[in-house]
Amino acid sequence: MTFATLGLIEPLLRALETLGYQTPTPVQAQAIPAVLAGRDLMAAAQTGTGKTAGFAVPLLQLLAMEGPKVTPNSVRALILVPTRELAEQVHESVRQYAEHLPLSTYAVYGGVSINPQMMKLRKGVDLLVATPGRLLDLFRQNALKFNQLQTLVLDEADRMLDLGFSEELANIYRVLPKKRQTLLFSATFSDEIRLLAGQMLNDPLSIEVSPRNVAANTVKQWLYTVDKKRKAELFVHLMRKHKWKQVLVFAKTRNGVDALVEKLQGLGVNADGIHGDKPQATRQRALDRFKASEVQILVATDVAARGLDIEDLPLVVNFDLPIVAEDYIHRIGRTGRAGATGEAISLVCADEVNLLSAIEMLTRQGLNRHLEQDFEPEHRVPDTDASGLVIKKPKKPKKPKAAGGAKRNLGKWVDSGETVADVPVKPVRKVPVFNTGPRKRKP
Ligand code: AMP
Repeated sequence: MTFATLGLIEPLLRALETLGYQTPTPVQAQAIPAVLAGRDLMAAAQTGTGKTAGFAVPLLQLLAMEGPKVTPNSVRALILVPTRELAEQVHESVRQYAEHLPLSTYAVYGGVSINPQMMKLRKGVDLLVATPGRLLDLFRQNALKFNQLQTLVLDEADRMLDLGFSEELANIYRVLPKKRQTLLFSATFSDEIRLLAGQMLNDPLSIEVSPRNVAANTVKQWLYTVDKKRKAELFVHLMRKHKWKQVLVFAKTRNGVDALVEKLQGLGVNADGIHGDKPQATRQRALDRFKASEVQILVATDVAARGLDIEDLPLVVNFDLPIVAEDYIHRIGRTGRAGATGEAISLVCADEVNLLSAIEMLTRQGLNRHLEQDFEPEHRVPDTDASGLVIKKPKKPKKPKAAGGAKRNLGKWVDSGETVADVPVKPVRKVPVFNTGPRKRKP
């Protein structure tokens, strides 16, 4: 199959050829004809599957072939994305695909001055990429009208809900024309997403290009068990031992990002960090420098986990496991993209066993465990398996405690006379770690 057989016009074929896209990916093969035929879509597509071209390319064709010229302050197609970085990235792809078409495109997002965006919108744009909050601000300030809107795309819809955008989405939805085409892309489909799809889509075609909730199989994944306080030391050791060249590292908190970057820079390592507290320009600069291989180690919170496309990124390290298991899939999806192979390594301490168990259950696979010599943890990480259970080991006889020794609380253990099967081991995930509703913005 070729792009030409999918019915794309010459200017688009030329742009795809320049980009080196020879064969449509599975999501493109399904989405392109459906979008061209005007269908609504509900697509479950993992990151790295080529989904951006799957919706953007046919959308550009419809804009070029159909509909009136855009009027001042109007938009004809709107792509909603959860983060500023993703807005920039999707817009960059759109710009490349639209290279030979007489269409205007633009991206708007928060964290930067609104005035230049208002100026730019005066003439109207054919295709606008936007984050929900800034889009509403622009609409409320009369910088935007939706009367010409013919297509709406929700990209990374699950992430938008995770980030607490459900109210913004509802407000946007209310002011859009009822007659329009809607394309919804989501890596995972929770009940909440299905509800959203039910409200927004009209007789959608469902596309599922990879098994639900299974991480990219082009990514080799394993973990090191290690004590929490020795994670940074182990990271530096592994980086030197394996001569890691370009690594995207995920840490749980903004402070965690800053602390690791500081430590690495102190050791003379070329490292930078991105998280929600940093100004947008600084975040983008760090990302651009990392993409250009001018920065060796980029440490990020989950703000960087979704959708970012870094060509040939060989390695992702989870310095901390994510609180939401689904974020693991998005993090490791930064590598192994578009068929390339990649590696994802997690540094896991005993405190994180429940998070690990949730990830293994979601991805339906146990992660291989490694021990690095001299970094064997004092606090053992209990065994886990893909059924979501933490398998408890028989209790060891207590050693007499040395005065002032550290207290350990490793949970309830199985008595030495019992087997694991004898003991009613409950799933340990007391708090559901999947999307349970709005969460804080700006991780
Ligand atoms: P996405 O999932 O849209 O973020 O795309 C992942 C990566 O695959 C991007 O770098 C795209 O440029 C690339 N890509 C998308 N479609 C194709 C294709 N048909 N052939 C080769 N590369 C592609």
